[in-house]
Amino acid sequence: MDLSTSIDCLERLVAFDTVSTRPNLPLIEWAADRLDAAGMQTRIQRAEDGLHANLYASAGPADVPGLMLSGHSDVVPVEGQDWHSDPFTLTRRDDRLIARGAADMKGFIACVVAMAPVLAKRARRQPVHVALSYNEETDMQGMRVLAADLASAPVRPAACVIGEPTSMQVVVANKGAAIFRCRVRGHPVHSSLRDRGISAVEIAAEMIAFLNRMQERLNTAERHDGFEFPFTSIHAGMIQGGTAHNITAAECSFVFEIRALPGVSAEALLGELQRHCDENLLPGMRAVSAECGIEITPVVNAPGLDDRGNRSLAAALMPLCVCREPGRVSFGTEAGFVTQAGIPTVVCGPGDIAVAHQPDEFVTDEQLSRCLDFLDALGHRLEQSDTLR
Ligand SMILES: [Zn+2]
Repeated sequence: MDLSTSIDCLERLVAFDTVSTRPNLPLIEWAADRLDAAGMQTRIQRAEDGLHANLYASAGPADVPGLMLSGHSDVVPVEGQDWHSDPFTLTRRDDRLIARGAADMKGFIACVVAMAPVLAKRARRQPVHVALSYNEETDMQGMRVLAADLASAPVRPAACVIGEPTSMQVVVANKGAAIFRCRVRGHPVHSSLRDRGISAVEIAAEMIAFLNRMQERLNTAERHDGFEFPFTSIHAGMIQGGTAHNITAAECSFVFEIRALPGVSAEALLGELQRHCDENLLPGMRAVSAECGIEITPVVNAPGLDDRGNRSLAAALMPLCVCREPGRVSFGTEAGFVTQAGIPTVVCGPGDIAVAHQPDEFVTDEQLSRCLDFLDALGHRLEQSDTLR
């Protein structure tokens, strides 16, 4: 397959600065033009903010489910990272193609766009669909909307491949990603009179210590081999609070995440924290001042990918990408949303997750070639058989 076309596409794709906070519409319009020219029907689904959009493109019979190839169009920021070349200009160093998003995940999108004319031609019996989403790296709102749409469509795809970087291995499970922001309101007094005040910093510390104890308990149960960290993980990664060493802190905010194993409910774990607050922390705080409080709000709650729903799809796809053993990953993907729409989903794409989000992020020629071969084989499969699974 034509590697140079996919590299040209990648060069165009990385030049769109689609850091999640910025508009992705120019990229979506470019991709829509390319897929349209490849013979696909395209639909741009705009977000309410007018700046972001999903793209859904289809070729083949409308009354047959077919295969969906899915990728997110946004990338993570580059601020504070030590890049050796412009992150938004594709730069070659030996076999590495370097740019923000090269691995995560514009390499996959470039391969799909390059292959679209071939795939569209081979979609006579079973359709092929291309889905590009927005804001995967922040709140996953794009796929949330798109998946809800697909769930209510009269005919929805029979299978989905999400091309997140897995080094072209078929990934059948990923952990959920639930992120919460917690705001603690204390009561400020001079710290020499600390019994008359409540330090929001200390309450936040108690909550984080509670989360750490939950982690210790989780580490003794619910082991799921196959994940690098084989347990549900809980982590507090950001905290701000207080104004002076001698004032009990009026405010403290922190952010924590729960990466739940498939089958483990992040909500249930959150419920434990909330009960701890209600029973053990809030009564003492309120006894000092009615203005004290604890608010926990979800930032993102993305379901995990559970390997019970995609075994036959994985078995059908593994030979097409020379994958012997299905993988499990601990990073969040949109796969849980697609699965919830009733579409069996696996994750498989070019590039190494270890370089994603890093300075000098890259994808290699070899990975792009393998992805093109995989898409080629998928196209043949669509042409030759009536079902993917
Ligand atoms: Zn990604």
